[in-house]
Amino acid sequence: MTSLDDLPLRRDLRGERPYGAPQLDVPVQLNVNENTFGIPQPVALEIVQRLAAEVIQLNRYPDREFMGLRAQLATYLGYSLTANQIWAANGSNEVLMQIFQAFGGPGVKAMSFGPTYSMYPNIARISLTDYIQVDREVDYELSPEYVASEIERIKPGIVLLCSPNNPTGTPVSLDVVKAAYDSFDGILIVDEAYAEFSEQKPALSLLAGRERLIISRTMSKAFAFAGARVGYLAADEAVVDALRIVRLPYHLSALTQAAASAALDFAPLMLQNVEKIKVQRDRIIKALLEFGLRPYRSDANFVLVAGFEDPGEVFEKLLARGVLIRNVGIPGTLRITAGTEAETTKLLAELALILD
Ligand code: PMP
Repeated sequence: MTSLDDLPLRRDLRGERPYGAPQLDVPVQLNVNENTFGIPQPVALEIVQRLAAEVIQLNRYPDREFMGLRAQLATYLGYSLTANQIWAANGSNEVLMQIFQAFGGPGVKAMSFGPTYSMYPNIARISLTDYIQVDREVDYELSPEYVASEIERIKPGIVLLCSPNNPTGTPVSLDVVKAAYDSFDGILIVDEAYAEFSEQKPALSLLAGRERLIISRTMSKAFAFAGARVGYLAADEAVVDALRIVRLPYHLSALTQAAASAALDFAPLMLQNVEKIKVQRDRIIKALLEFGLRPYRSDANFVLVAGFEDPGEVFEKLLARGVLIRNVGIPGTLRITAGTEAETTKLLAELALILD
């Protein structure tokens, strides 16, 4: 085997490494903000039946426009959205990639407010889009005035606002979204991957009359469907038309469409653990404060906590005790996904011992 350095790799990719958190087989996995509850049995059975019906027709390509699934997603989101305003792909990462393929590229600047989701710079790089990350304000919050002035200063073609923001947990207010939209004439993406955990009204409510606004969503988090790889967006019909130009034909397999469609038919059941997860999130925040640490406000299913002298050491010690969390590389901090009650109990017990 030859080495990567010996290949005629694209010049701008040389020296780069694949992105991804460690995938380790440990009892308590709280590192990638999944829903740690399994799929409810009745939904699992329905999915298997629908997949069986698809399997015998897998000689045929899937429905390229997947209008059935798009109609279901529109109904799930509400706000009088129609199937023509919805698009989907294999995870919201792929949705974001397609947005960049359609609206980014050489000569276009994408801009975000960091720390934020670490795939944004990767997606920009892969699509040859320039990427500029501006710091957030105190406690990782954002105000309309600050966001507007920074957008006017940078003059980007694409702005990414993550709400609630990964990895900080902070929501972005609708006033910030409106101010951002009015500050430039490019594409504004609001990444609402964790929206179902948030108390805030979703930015979906701002779509009407804003044809450059894109709301990105996923079934990977609250919906407990990360393994199926289904992300989607809501936007003006014209935005969807643009994405249909860059998507590879038949990108969403018949099996994915069938599984997602079955899961959406059971939406309330699939979302049944969201409130329980929020209870665990708030329990984690309370306990961390009692430990003398500094958790940030979170509107998502995870908590970023500051106050560690050596986060790398705490991460390793927790791992050795069977608890995997995330070191996102922000000095003094770690990020913890809120899971089941038993997982929180184990996490907090081990953390207490380590901090002692
Ligand atoms: N956006 C944000 C903010 C995320 O945290 C994630 C997953 N970590 C994604 C998008 C992508 O998720 P998926 O591709 O599973 O939909």
